[in-house]
Amino acid sequence: MIDYRSDTVTQPTPEMLAFMQSAPVGDDVFGEDPSINALERITAAKFGMEAGLFCPSGTMTNQLAIKTHTQAGDEVICDRLSHIYQYEGGGIAFNSGCSVQLLEGNRGILTAHQILGGINAEDVHKPITRLVSLENTSNRGGGACYNFETFKQIKEVTSSHGLGLHLDGARIFNAIVHKKEAPVLYGQVFDSISVCLSKGLGAPVGSVLVGSHTFIKKARRWRKVFGGGMRQAGYLAAAGIYALEHHIERLAQDHTNALVLSEELAKKDFVESILSVETNIVIATIGGKYSAASLAAALKEKGILAIAMTPTQIRFVFHLDITEDHLAQTIDIINSL
Ligand SMILES: *Cc1c(COP(=O)(O)O)cnc(C)c1O
Repeated sequence: MIDYRSDTVTQPTPEMLAFMQSAPVGDDVFGEDPSINALERITAAKFGMEAGLFCPSGTMTNQLAIKTHTQAGDEVICDRLSHIYQYEGGGIAFNSGCSVQLLEGNRGILTAHQILGGINAEDVHKPITRLVSLENTSNRGGGACYNFETFKQIKEVTSSHGLGLHLDGARIFNAIVHKKEAPVLYGQVFDSISVCLSKGLGAPVGSVLVGSHTFIKKARRWRKVFGGGMRQAGYLAAAGIYALEHHIERLAQDHTNALVLSEELAKKDFVESILSVETNIVIATIGGKYSAASLAAALKEKGILAIAMTPTQIRFVFHLDITEDHLAQTIDIINSL
């Protein structure tokens, strides 16, 4: 099977596994796992942040960030397609007791002007706006990226209103590689960033939350409360270190491959439109003889897995385990439909 369902389906490479096996480990709840300490330090430094916190999932790093930035009764501003709202089980309400102000962005990308309009006035009727959360790249937006200038404009709005600014960076390296950005600049704009290691970077587990020393100290306490304090998890952190060292630049290949697939799909009469490809995600709107689900079923019979996200939209995600040979096979199969 050639698996385009998600960039989370990757297998650790033999080199990554060997590196994991040789990792020094200790009890991380005591702060004594050298590999986790190194991963947290390396990730924070990359983004120009003071400190990092290794967690089992990106859901946990996002939820810890929201918990740390807010008090119950506050409000969080985000795009309506955001992972924190759509795919984290209502965690904003459940874990933090916060309400949400959903904005309608362009493919998950918000402007400073929209955010300004979403901030509640000082009024006893209204929840207190406390946090803005952005997503780069936007998953439901088909891998769309922010322009860094927009981040700076948004930062001006959040600073002048005393709001926290969080980034769900599940695919932040896809954005950084695509836009040829310096990761260290992100630390100048965001108060916290969640960085996934288990998406396109190909680690089996884990995300790192980065921020200031005080922020991460508080988040570390909440991580224990959430049940995310792990012990000799340095074996997993080592996979993250390996991924940060070896799997970032290669993301450009995923982006090229995604573009090639989208150009081939565009030629088919059952493809009505495609969100223009920026990074590793292709979302096509299907019509005519197929629904998204029946196209996914037809592809599955021929050994290709993709996800029908809605009745009309199918998604293909490129990652470490999709080779150019796989892409060529996929194009042949699509052309046979
Ligand atoms: C995958 C993802 C996450 C985190 O997911 P986990 O499966 O909990 O690691 C967060 N945000 C976005 C945009 C994602 O795509």
